[in-house]
Amino acid sequence: MTKTKIDVTLSKTKKEKPQSDQLEFGRVFTDHMFVMDYSPTKGWHDARIVPYEPISLSPASMVFHYGQTVFEGLKAYRTQDDKVLLFRPEKNMHRLNLSNERLCIPQIDGEFVIEALKQLVSIEKEWIPTAEGTSLYIRPFIIPTEYFLGVAPSNFYRFMIILSPVGSYYKEGIHPVKIFVENHYVRAVDGGTGKAKTGANYASSLKAQEEAAKKGYSQVLWLDGVEKKYIEEVGSMNIFFKISGEVVTPELNGSILEGVTRNSIIELLKSWDIPVSERKISMEEVYETYKKGKLEEVFGTGTAAVISPVGEFLYNEQKMVINDGLTGELSKKLYDTLSGIQRGTMQDPFNWVVDVN
Ligand SMILES: *Cc1c(COP(=O)(O)O)cnc(C)c1O
Repeated sequence: MTKTKIDVTLSKTKKEKPQSDQLEFGRVFTDHMFVMDYSPTKGWHDARIVPYEPISLSPASMVFHYGQTVFEGLKAYRTQDDKVLLFRPEKNMHRLNLSNERLCIPQIDGEFVIEALKQLVSIEKEWIPTAEGTSLYIRPFIIPTEYFLGVAPSNFYRFMIILSPVGSYYKEGIHPVKIFVENHYVRAVDGGTGKAKTGANYASSLKAQEEAAKKGYSQVLWLDGVEKKYIEEVGSMNIFFKISGEVVTPELNGSILEGVTRNSIIELLKSWDIPVSERKISMEEVYETYKKGKLEEVFGTGTAAVISPVGEFLYNEQKMVINDGLTGELSKKLYDTLSGIQRGTMQDPFNWVVDVN
């Protein structure tokens, strides 16, 4: 794509910013957004930063019918010395293009979008909360905009980036979650769209999530879609098990979403010489190690929480309480280190952090 300048139209009004301690996830949006459009003749064009406002689309827009959508999620952090940092944004752009490829959406120029994102985040700098644990959540997404009811890839698209200040995931400090091991519904199968960040995957997960919530579990653990035997991941997190000193996470098998956090945790563990393997792991194996007292820690990884320790599984009516329902030592160390790198309070030997200024 041609690297046209990004047109900027600043908002005439400024919304009131929420108090740090009242921030929720994804309910409040900043004053501006990034937009660009795609057409077969122009490619991606009209890259612009404009006031945040509703968009107008025909009811026949393809986005309302067949779910050909993709999205990303990352964060910007404001440091004590007032710098603005992004965490591995090139990974998100790479993954967005993998999702695009699977959904028949044209590729975007990741470098260009990162430049646009830096510009947008700089304009919205005052929106980035500074209190402990808070950040600015960044949501890039692409929707099909052609007016057509036929089932086919759209010829026209809109790419947008919206920003939302978010509160600390752990209001009272990092604490373990309870997870329901899903043995009826499935999330994805090999050959499906599991490895793409596409809306449909989340639509089909809602029912299981709702039923688990009724039983008092905050998330579900998905098993493979064929045998319902091997562990895949949690709703929006990858999962890790510490068994007899070794860390195991399911291998990328085509139906698991490759998290940027997952990748970073594996790199961190390797740099600490802690054995870590990516392999098939069944729920039966986890249960057996649990019974033998060898299941030391379990944690999920994802942009929202960074590390989410698991305190309990419900698996075929059996309750498994992990590490007495407490946050494990390794989980805590990984959380402190990774969030320290992301927030610029710890050394970044991997060059993961990108300075926006
Ligand atoms: C986004 C997501 C993750 C976590 O990815 P991160 O890049 O670490 O935030 C894991 N699983 C699913 C299904 C996801 O949508």
